[in-house]
Amino acid sequence: MSEKGLTTIHLKKINRAKVYHYIYRKKRTSKLQIVQELQMGLSTVSQNLNLLEEEGLIERNGYFASTGGRKAQAIQIVPDFRLSIGLGILKNMLHITAVDLYGNALYTDTISLPYSHTAAYYEQVAGKIKEFIEKKKYEEQKILGISIATQGIISSDNTMVTYGKIMNNTGMQLKDFSKYLPYPCHLEHDSKSAACLELWNHPELDSAIILLLNRNLGGAVITNRQIHQGSAMHSGSIEHMCMNPDGPLCYCKNRGCLETYCSANALEHACGLSIKEFFPLLRENKSPQLTQIWKDYLKHLAFAIKNLNLVIDAPIILSGYLAPYITEEDIGYLLTQINSSSPFPLDKEQLLTGIHGQYTPAIGAALFYIEQFLKSI
Ligand SMILES: [Zn+2]
Repeated sequence: MSEKGLTTIHLKKINRAKVYHYIYRKKRTSKLQIVQELQMGLSTVSQNLNLLEEEGLIERNGYFASTGGRKAQAIQIVPDFRLSIGLGILKNMLHITAVDLYGNALYTDTISLPYSHTAAYYEQVAGKIKEFIEKKKYEEQKILGISIATQGIISSDNTMVTYGKIMNNTGMQLKDFSKYLPYPCHLEHDSKSAACLELWNHPELDSAIILLLNRNLGGAVITNRQIHQGSAMHSGSIEHMCMNPDGPLCYCKNRGCLETYCSANALEHACGLSIKEFFPLLRENKSPQLTQIWKDYLKHLAFAIKNLNLVIDAPIILSGYLAPYITEEDIGYLLTQINSSSPFPLDKEQLLTGIHGQYTPAIGAALFYIEQFLKSI
């Protein structure tokens, strides 16, 4: 093909992408607005809109209120044109979600299924995923892929768990799952998946520290909107920061790790209640003992946050299972604790909480395929 021909094709692709991404960002727009904002000719915009509509990527739905002339048609992307399935694998259960092109979790589900490094387990997981897709009546071509968030450090090529002391899944491979699934599959460390979701939800952030307050604690460091992986993939493993060398024994065989004070498991252990029972009782404010346990929890968390903020001067995001339970008052208490012993005070705006609770890793993992798809347009 001639050079001119190639350039024309390239230009067409660029225009198509510009129009699509503009509509995506605006959520709801009109042809005239696209023409004006992108400074593109009316016929080019019309052509691209027709093309995108034929492909099923956008839809015209309703009208804007008239400003005198003809009412403008409202244009939007089709959010479920493609979907990504996210999975969060835990010791005794798995979380599953379907995420649309805006990163919304359309469905979430928890399935009770104890982990074991056996073919039977992986086949069962694949069966549950297929069942989920079938039940929701998603057509096969809509599914971009299955992205799996697991506990444990994974290899730099995302194919295998290299350190999995919690679930005992060292050596677990992506292909253990993918061989039973007719979709592209991807494997991620759950803390990193959580960080992906928080990045998605906070487009204004350049850097951040994520504390994943799950049954087991996790963490991630974000700089320049990238998750820091590290030489051996364990950057951000905040859970093993030592709080007290004579403290309780951690699953990593060391003592007094942050995990032993600030994981949801540690909190349940301290109060003798499940998380679901603990918080309503705590908020009734009738038990000094529960109040003390929660204060101790927050004190340890504040101690860790203070130290982390000295290393990376950036907002801290409390994410995962416990995050939705944290109140304004708790944030105030944390800030008082942090700022009573730090040379550099942390502002209220620098301490954020996630909103997706226990589904954070599954939703974050699913974003892998959504981001890939959006980049491909
Ligand atoms: Zn540890």
